[in-house]
Amino acid sequence: MSSAHDILQSVFGFSTFRPPQDQIIESVVAGDDALVLMPTGGGKSLCYQIPALVREGCGVVISPLIALMQDQVSAMKLLGVRASFLNSTLSASEARAIEQALLAGELDLLYIAPERFTQPNTLKLLRQASISLFAIDEAHCVSQWGHDFRADYLQLSLLHELFPEVPRIALTATADARTREEIISRLQLEHAGQFLAGFDRPNICYRIALKHNAKNQLLKFLKDEHPTDAGIVYCLSRKKTEDIAYWLQSEGFNALPYHAGLASETRAEHQRRFLRDEGVIIVATIAFGMGIDKPDVRYVAHLDLPKTIESYYQETGRAGRDGEPADAWMIYGLQDVIKLRQMMEGSGGSEEHKRAEQHRLNAMLGLCEITTCRRQALLAYFGEGLAQPCGNCDCCLEPAQTWDGTEAARKALSVAYRTEQRFGVNHLIDVLRGAETDKIFQFDHHRLASHGIGQDLDNNQWRSVYRQLVARGYLSVDLERFGALKLEEACRPLLRGEETIQFRLDVKKKPAKRQTKTPLAADLDIALWEALRECRREFAEDQGVPPYVIFHDTSLQQMCVELPRDMNAFALVSGVGERKLEKYGPAFIRVISDHLA
Ligand code: ADP
Ligand code: ZN
Repeated sequence: MSSAHDILQSVFGFSTFRPPQDQIIESVVAGDDALVLMPTGGGKSLCYQIPALVREGCGVVISPLIALMQDQVSAMKLLGVRASFLNSTLSASEARAIEQALLAGELDLLYIAPERFTQPNTLKLLRQASISLFAIDEAHCVSQWGHDFRADYLQLSLLHELFPEVPRIALTATADARTREEIISRLQLEHAGQFLAGFDRPNICYRIALKHNAKNQLLKFLKDEHPTDAGIVYCLSRKKTEDIAYWLQSEGFNALPYHAGLASETRAEHQRRFLRDEGVIIVATIAFGMGIDKPDVRYVAHLDLPKTIESYYQETGRAGRDGEPADAWMIYGLQDVIKLRQMMEGSGGSEEHKRAEQHRLNAMLGLCEITTCRRQALLAYFGEGLAQPCGNCDCCLEPAQTWDGTEAARKALSVAYRTEQRFGVNHLIDVLRGAETDKIFQFDHHRLASHGIGQDLDNNQWRSVYRQLVARGYLSVDLERFGALKLEEACRPLLRGEETIQFRLDVKKKPAKRQTKTPLAADLDIALWEALRECRREFAEDQGVPPYVIFHDTSLQQMCVELPRDMNAFALVSGVGERKLEKYGPAFIRVISDHLA
């Protein structure tokens, strides 16, 4: 039996554990149960893979992500781990062969879909086999409150009763305390050690800018910062995902749409290309995401505002799972708020439900408008503190300017009030600016004392004022009346002169650029980088796996910098274990030597 640390080096090619991986592994190896909460990309898989290799018998992984099992198993096999899966994609004879391998003690890891697991035949099989541990991946699926509830997961309480001597490790990236309680009680993990890693994703740079010309802004972001990277662009509507995807294609990008209205074969094909090919952009609705395990997504761009901070954090969390710098980039404007409020209003549901949704949207708007560190605000929302501003969000990198908007806000509110709270933002701005439109005359608004009191600011500045008043909850959007702005209780202190207000100064500039380096930074030899990528692509194609399963970008970057020219030097590259050294070392060393010659 080798030690956990030997396996980390010899099989996975990594030199050190990321805490608390070491503690978790130690406890599971010792036969204790564990509950692991770690953010996406934190390194949960090693927490069961290594104990499964250290302990006697086969580790059984229960995972709802059937689409990923094939890739997970291929990745394990490339490391020399004897892995297989049992799910509905297998033929009866294929399944039988795997069951026999399990009984013969020829497997280190077996991935099983939950619906398969709970079948009597499977349980019988497992009782005959030697099992080293049970890993329950995506353990939040047991929670009936969550979006990902799986009835089959409830049956997993059986594990404790049927296999009392086998340690269980439940893993999830879902943060909140209620879900955690539910996992513990439903899976009977009262005695399990709890390992909670922080939820911060320090490699993700959060940036939120004002939307003025969405396509131009996106194009500039992609061309300047991610011309060849893989990324996800989220849009609110199905139609918009297609529009944006085809337009990006016409701009020379490898972009594909994804939404629930596409034929299932098309969806599967687009997802496959996103995972297998390099540099594909998926333009998607929120239907895309669950179980996307691609580590090298370099950015997530939002062209529309998510409804809640939870969704925003989950969606942006799909960037940078490999720990390398990645961007969460978003643009938004007043129109987004109006559209979302309309959707919520039309969604049916009880008044209470609507109020709760409204509340969560307001928190999201607050995040957009703050002028202090976004990461601090995000983590605070999830109940986690961050002592210092992060230095890796737009507010930290390029501090927003503010201005005293007290006077402007009073004018803006008073015009809404004087026009009986029946008009939308465009008309209110016309009144403020003293315009003489048909509508102004129709309603006699040129006779109002406030007609023309806002000549000092231009149209865009007034839009900005109204947007920020809505975001702060001083005004609400009346949807029965086509977006009329109504005064809310919250604006009283300001109107009474008891409060002043600071607004964010909207400047029509690009969102702050992150300062971290991308792989193609100037100090990298691009010709060598491309040659190594080509070598990786050939192996990937040959073996039918995504390129990152061969080596991550991090490993290729390290090769570019350290230029290993013999097997000993190559073995030191992160991600190069014994099996990959033997299998790929010579070819990659040849690429490097040829390049240097
Ligand atoms: P999660 O399941 O928590 O989202 P993964 O298990 O997929 O995360 O790990 C994320 C990435 O981090 C993977 O690419 C993995 O190879 C890498 N990784 C995990 N642990 C280590 C480590 N100790 N050293 C280096 N890389 C690691
Ligand atoms: Zn910050």
